[in-house]
Amino acid sequence: MTEVLTPGYQRAAFAAGKYLRIVNWHNTPESQRGTLKRELRWYLERYHPVLPADLDRFTDTGRWALPKPGFIPVFYDSYLNNATVALPVCEELGLTAWFFPTTAILSLDPDDQEAFADAHDYTILDEEKSQPRFAMTWDDLDRIHREGHVICAHTANHAAAKDISTDAEIEREILGPIRELERLTGYRPPAFAFLYGTPPDPGTAAGAAVLASGVRYATTNTAYLRIND
Ligand SMILES: [Zn+2]
Repeated sequence: MTEVLTPGYQRAAFAAGKYLRIVNWHNTPESQRGTLKRELRWYLERYHPVLPADLDRFTDTGRWALPKPGFIPVFYDSYLNNATVALPVCEELGLTAWFFPTTAILSLDPDDQEAFADAHDYTILDEEKSQPRFAMTWDDLDRIHREGHVICAHTANHAAAKDISTDAEIEREILGPIRELERLTGYRPPAFAFLYGTPPDPGTAAGAAVLASGVRYATTNTAYLRIND
């Protein structure tokens, strides 16, 4: 295993296409459906979609077992258009994606979603301003799960690590969402992301809670850190 940590091994592996690319989306509006499909197809022609088991094998052994470089297509924040646009596009392409819903908005009254958006870094696009709601629901997320996509945790209220410190905040933003998602899917979310992709710092209560949660990966925008077996 130590050999895989040497610069020579890593240079050769990278040159041979043994690496992982994380590609993040947030809003996927109807007006961008064609673009999204073209982008995802572009990746599919060049990269191999990665599932948690692939990532586990890679981080367990340091060896890349897929025929091409890997990519993880990620859809963040519970946007309704992830369910109405990204989901069918993935289905057309036969692609399995990873979804990181913020859980509070999944059960929030549509009349309260605009106020939530203002307070929690949630973007409502001009083209969607007249919609009755902006976020998906637990039923939408269940459909995404049942179509085989990977469901991960991203706090309840789109919280930043620095804003989570008390036991009540840890329960609300970290442990509660992990439990609720596990209840929906039947598996513990394989990954957790704070707002801004802050890595879990073991010296903080919030970071320590993520590390102790049993979630296997911390997601930091463009990397997946293995934090548990
Ligand atoms: Zn987010």
